[in-house]
Amino acid sequence: MTTPSPNHSISQVVVGLRDVFDSGRTQDVSWRIDQLDALRRLLEENESRFFGALRDDLGKSVTEAWAAELGFLLSEINFARKNLRSWMRPTRVSTPLACQPGRSWVEPQPLGLVLIIGAWNYPVGLLLGPLVGAVGAGNCGILKPSEQAPKTAALLEELLPLYLDTNCFSVVQGGAEETGGLLAERFDLIFYTGGAAVAKIVMRAASEHLTPVVLELGGKCPAIVDRDVDPATAGRRIAWGRFMNAGQTCVAPDYVLVDRDIEEPLIDGMVAAVEEFFGKQPDLSDDYGRIINNHHMQRLVDLLGKTTATATPNLQMVIGGRWDVESRYFAPTILKGVSPDSPIMGEEIFGPILPVLSVSDVDEALEFVRSQPKPLAVYTFTHDKQVERRVLHRTSSGGVCINDVIMQLTALGLPFGGVGDSGMGAYHGRHSFEAFSHKKAVMRRTLHPDLKLRYPPYDETKLKWLRRLM
Ligand code: NAD
Repeated sequence: MTTPSPNHSISQVVVGLRDVFDSGRTQDVSWRIDQLDALRRLLEENESRFFGALRDDLGKSVTEAWAAELGFLLSEINFARKNLRSWMRPTRVSTPLACQPGRSWVEPQPLGLVLIIGAWNYPVGLLLGPLVGAVGAGNCGILKPSEQAPKTAALLEELLPLYLDTNCFSVVQGGAEETGGLLAERFDLIFYTGGAAVAKIVMRAASEHLTPVVLELGGKCPAIVDRDVDPATAGRRIAWGRFMNAGQTCVAPDYVLVDRDIEEPLIDGMVAAVEEFFGKQPDLSDDYGRIINNHHMQRLVDLLGKTTATATPNLQMVIGGRWDVESRYFAPTILKGVSPDSPIMGEEIFGPILPVLSVSDVDEALEFVRSQPKPLAVYTFTHDKQVERRVLHRTSSGGVCINDVIMQLTALGLPFGGVGDSGMGAYHGRHSFEAFSHKKAVMRRTLHPDLKLRYPPYDETKLKWLRRLM
C-alpha cells in the first residue's frame, strides 16, 4: 500500500495500481481470502487503538464503537470469507434452441480499480465496509478516509499498509482539494458515502469517464408510530436510534410522526429512556457521544435557534436544548408540537435533536412522508398488518424496519442503500460483492453444426423456422 508523497503523484499511484490489477493478481481466490484475513487481523490486533481514535473523534463509547463499527465489520468479513467461493461461481442460464448446442452463464468479474470515499460519522465502518466488497470481488483500490475524523483517518493510513497487499491498495488523505484530484482520475467504480451536495460533485466527475457510482447518502428518516403499540418500548427504541453517536447516524430516526392518542406516553417513554441510558447529566456519561466538530456544533445550535424562534404556538422543548461548544457536547433534545414547515423539518438534522409531530392517523403520516424526498429508511411501529402493508406500499425508501430502528442493517442478506435522494446502489453481504463486480455475460457455442437458417439470403421458409426456434 502506498500513500502518495508530494513527488509521488496521484496519477502515478493510479497507474501503478492499474498495472497490478492488469497482472491478474487479484483474480485468485486465495489472494482475496488472504486479504480478508488480513483485514480481520487488522481489526482484532488494533482494537484498543481504534477505540481510542473513535473516542477522540466522536466521543464514541467502546460498546458503540465495537457494535456499530469493528464488530459489524468482523461479521461482514467472516460472512464474505465463508461465502466467497460460491459468490464467485458462474451462474448457468438457459440457452435458446436457436443457439444449441451451446451454454450460457453469468460470470462475476472484478471491475478493476475502485475509489472508496468514506464519511466521518462511522469512519472505520464506512471505509472498510465497502473495502470488504472490493477485496472479495477482486479489485484494486484507493481509499479516501474522511478528514473530519482526523484521528481515525491517521490510524487507518498507518495500519492499512501494514496488513493489506501494498501493491493493490492505497490510502489518500485529504479534504475537498485532494478528493477533487482523485476524482479527475479514471476509476472503474466510485463508491461514495456522505452528503448529497458532494455526491453531485462526485457524479459530475464520474460522468467525464463514464464511471459508475454507488452513492450512499442520507435524508430524513421518519418513525411512524401507530396508536396500538407499547409506547414505552417504541419510545426506548426510537430514543436509542436517535441519540446513538450523538444523533450522527444516517439511518437514525430523524423525526417522529405519532398518532395523537399516544403522543404523551410515547414522549414519556423517550424521556425515561434518555435518562435510563445517559443519566440525569448526559455530559457526564461515557456512553454519550460528541459532535464531530465546531462547524456541525454551530449548525445544530443555529437550527435549534431558528426552530424555537418561529411562532409555533404549541412548540415545546421537552428535554435538552443545552450545549457546550468547547467540549462539543449537545444534550439529547426532544421537541414536541413541531409543525411540518418548521426549520427543523427542512433538512436532515444529523445531531441529537428529535422533533415529534402528532397526526390524526397513519394515513396522515403517510401523506406527509410521501410529500418529502425519499429517505434512506422508514420506520413504523404497529401491530396492524394492514397498516404495515400501507406503509410498505405507499412509501419509497432504501429500507424499512417494522417495530424497531437501525437493526435492519445487521441482516447481511438485506441490501443497504438508498433510493432517489437517499442514494443509488447498495451493499452489505453478497450485495457488496455484486456492487464491486461486473456480471459478465458469456455464451459458448460449438462450430458445428452451422445451420444456414440465420444467414442471408433469407426466404419465407427461413423466417418460418426462425419464428419457431427463437
Ligand atoms: P461530506 O459529504 O462532507 O464528506 C464525505 C466525503 O466527501 C469526505 O471523504 C470528504 O473528504 C469528501 N468531500 C467533502 N467535500 C468535498 C468536495 N468538495 N469535493 C470532493 N470531495 C469532498 O460528509 P457529510 O455530508 O458531512 O456526511 C454526512 C452525510 O452523509 C449525511 O447526509 C448522512 O446521512 C450521510 N451518510 C450516509 C451514510 C450511508 O451509508 N448512506 C453513512 C454516513 C453518512
